[in-house]
Amino acid sequence: EGELFDITPYAGAYVRYFVRHPTTQLMPRKIKTAFSATDADVAITGIHDIGFLPRMRDGVKGVEIRVGGGTSIMPRVAPTLYDFVELDNGDYLKVTEACFRIFDRQDWLRVNRARARIKVLIDKIGIDEFRAQVEEELKGDWVSERDFDPQPKLFVHDEEANAPELLSHYAEPNGDLSEFERFRSDNVAPQRQAGFSTIHVKVTRGDLTPEQFRGLADIMRDRSGGYARTTVEQNFVLRWVRDEAVYEVWQRLKALDLGEAGPMKVTDVVSCPGTDSCKLGITSSMGLNRAVQQRVEEMDIHDPLTRKVHIKMSGCPNGCSQHHIANIGFYGASIKVGDKTIPAYIPHIGGTFVGGEVIYGTRLKSRLPSKRVPDAVERWLRYYEAERREGEEFNDFAERVGAESFTEQIKDLALPVEFTVENMDFFIDWSRDELYRVVRGEGECAV
Ligand code: SF4
Repeated sequence: EGELFDITPYAGAYVRYFVRHPTTQLMPRKIKTAFSATDADVAITGIHDIGFLPRMRDGVKGVEIRVGGGTSIMPRVAPTLYDFVELDNGDYLKVTEACFRIFDRQDWLRVNRARARIKVLIDKIGIDEFRAQVEEELKGDWVSERDFDPQPKLFVHDEEANAPELLSHYAEPNGDLSEFERFRSDNVAPQRQAGFSTIHVKVTRGDLTPEQFRGLADIMRDRSGGYARTTVEQNFVLRWVRDEAVYEVWQRLKALDLGEAGPMKVTDVVSCPGTDSCKLGITSSMGLNRAVQQRVEEMDIHDPLTRKVHIKMSGCPNGCSQHHIANIGFYGASIKVGDKTIPAYIPHIGGTFVGGEVIYGTRLKSRLPSKRVPDAVERWLRYYEAERREGEEFNDFAERVGAESFTEQIKDLALPVEFTVENMDFFIDWSRDELYRVVRGEGECAV
């Protein structure tokens, strides 16, 4: 909805242009890129090193380019570098290459890996100075040595031609349909193309078993033209599902334990792998996710505004769960108690990424033992429900009452705990059965 044109072919050309490109081989560090289809910005360009949003000017296709976003220990929302850069003449590739060339020359950024990102440069010199440098760069000889024409590199894929045939018979809804109706209302949206729907598949903690993967592949082959898209919320979207097939697809998803309603809702808790597999992890964010999700499910929340609250937790400040942009976010930390350590979390309140606006949550002056985090979440949700004004969204409420009042709500939960036999559980992380220790390695990968 609201799409000016399909940005996908240009995203494909960008990949084909820059992968194995000489400039991108040894930059100070990675570049994370996002192309969004509309200003709803579901790819969240604001938190990326470089982001592209479709624009039209006098019938010419272009993009707004944003540069210098990122989360982690230095969260920044990417400012706009240019509000219109043409696509079909390859200017978007040219401008991007100029940005990368400037970034590549910043040897001072190579000194500290944790800060070797383009946002650090832009934070230092400002977007106006960076733009001036880009314009200077575009005068260089390298420009005439390149072929920026995106046409041969466009990723052109006629999905409609690939859409499943209309069959003469589909499973008919029958019996008690309340569960299906909930699913349809939360997970199914009509496509722009008449007769087709998209189905949002909620994948708990982003984890799929091999059986679920195979089952999903079968559904995709039969009912969504063989394709699916992943989402930044760790879910799947099946597109090109015939309206007539929605009930049957839901039944098949249910059989795989994937038919739950409510993606992007309060029970769709997102976490990074944390200490399950990440060597940088401090805490078991997956274990906490499980505990928080269970608590929120037990709260049996039906209130539509509370259901919209996003909860995310990361196993360290790097923020791979995107806790900075959650309404309620946490990152892993620890609390020293004598020679023992308690796994803990630092809360953030009031972040968002919904509707195209990126706001980083406010970090509370609090450090919660991880075993008390579900209690904190419940208190804040109850607090919001009890004290909010008519129709007031969670973040508006958080802004009105202030971060300190959220801290106040959990003051007792943040109190330190002594190491005793009764308190032993606080010294053991979620989904673990041994005393907690901080053990960090190099790199985010388990191997
Ligand atoms: S580096 Fe990322 S994935 Fe690893 S624990 Fe930290 S936030 Fe999670």
